[in-house]
Amino acid sequence: MGHYVPVPAALPSAAIAPAEWDAAHAELLVLLRDLIRIPSINPPDPPGPELDAARHIAATFHAEGLEPEVIEPEPGRGNVVARLRGDGTGGDPLLLFSHLDVVPANAADGWTHGPFDADVADGYVWGRGAVDMKGAVALEVMVVVLLARRARAAGLDPARDPIPGLRRDVLFACTADEEAGGTAGARWLADHRPETMRAAGALNEAGGVSVELAGRRFYPIQVAEKGYEVFRIHVHGTWGHGSMPRDDNAAVMAAEVVRRLAVPGEPRLTPVMRQFLDGLRDALPPEPASLVAAISGDDPRRREAAIRSLCDPMYARALQALLRDSISPDIIAAGIKYNVIPGEAMVEIDCRTLPGTTTDDMREEVIARLGDLAPSCTVELTHSAPPVAAPASGELYDLLAATIRAHDPDGIPLPVMAPFATDAKATTLTLGVPTYGFTPLRLDPEERFLERFHGVDERVGLEALRWGLPVLYDVVAGFCG
Ligand SMILES: [Zn+2]
Repeated sequence: MGHYVPVPAALPSAAIAPAEWDAAHAELLVLLRDLIRIPSINPPDPPGPELDAARHIAATFHAEGLEPEVIEPEPGRGNVVARLRGDGTGGDPLLLFSHLDVVPANAADGWTHGPFDADVADGYVWGRGAVDMKGAVALEVMVVVLLARRARAAGLDPARDPIPGLRRDVLFACTADEEAGGTAGARWLADHRPETMRAAGALNEAGGVSVELAGRRFYPIQVAEKGYEVFRIHVHGTWGHGSMPRDDNAAVMAAEVVRRLAVPGEPRLTPVMRQFLDGLRDALPPEPASLVAAISGDDPRRREAAIRSLCDPMYARALQALLRDSISPDIIAAGIKYNVIPGEAMVEIDCRTLPGTTTDDMREEVIARLGDLAPSCTVELTHSAPPVAAPASGELYDLLAATIRAHDPDGIPLPVMAPFATDAKATTLTLGVPTYGFTPLRLDPEERFLERFHGVDERVGLEALRWGLPVLYDVVAGFCG
């Protein structure tokens, strides 16, 4: 695709010769393809592949003279951690934070290449986990490897001696079980082995990936993610004979509950999303800029129209979700027999909360929406996690943005929130580590990255990875150096 940009001489990556970058890129591809071929599906059936993947990374580190540790909180659920030492004068470590598990994939669903074959074709590595998130794992592993080689080149022991040029430690933690809440992965490590993840900042999945809009290239850096509150609503009606319909049929009431909850809520612009939209507006040509201004404006009809004309349906849905607390009714259950009117029904709803919305706020919103049905419902909280946020300014954020700009002078980094939850909950809530979604990839403008997450034909571009490796290296060497 030929969009390689020479690295400015002042950056740490400039000290590595182009031939060495080519070799590192080739090694990265081998590692990524090895990892995709290990079907580390979550839920694991049976457990084991996550452990295989953790051991594979550990072996890669061992070969470089490092002493990684494989941690197995439950049989077959592998996590791998490692530490590179700085000279201790630079403050707390930087954590490279990623996950090994992937969601299931079925070749029969129409994959162009087998989901666990890791084929290289048409400029991409294909397979489950290519973007979520083994591509990023491979980037992080290679950065650790390249830093370890600095020590060996200086005749030092990378497992014990400070890495030349590093003042802070670099921590690496690649975990199991992210796709199911991290109880055998990040959450377990945060609770039981906090020293493996305690850091001044962490780099995690899903941000730092280019998105083209109106001919401009943006790099949203994930600084925040929404919280979730899952409620099970028990709807109480009256049992009866199906031959004589009644209004308090619990299934009929549940249908009305779903209708009321599915109406989109009031939008609220959080500071991160205001910063994101303002940055977008300032960088765009006048016409799309006025649409962005309408999205952050007060007129709901102009806002909806602007979202529709600016974004394709996928990004429109994401943006809608980032502008409000959202409710998605995802499970409905009622009834025991065709001629028995159900007296009980259950509706399970997935609420995603903006920073500033508490569990109690969300529960109150749900009960208010139920209106006159509220007295007939019991609202039970089943899962809960608050939103998390890291500063969208300061040493680490500013370095992320500056490094993007250095490697892509036309690129525009912006802070953004994610509508979904990641293992950043574990690092942020348990350990207080500001956690950024930052896995730098410069994509082909046509690539539909968000659709690849958990999707059919998940794939990552070879050139995107080639661009991302020195970017991540410069962030790590820059922050820790
Ligand atoms: Zn992921």
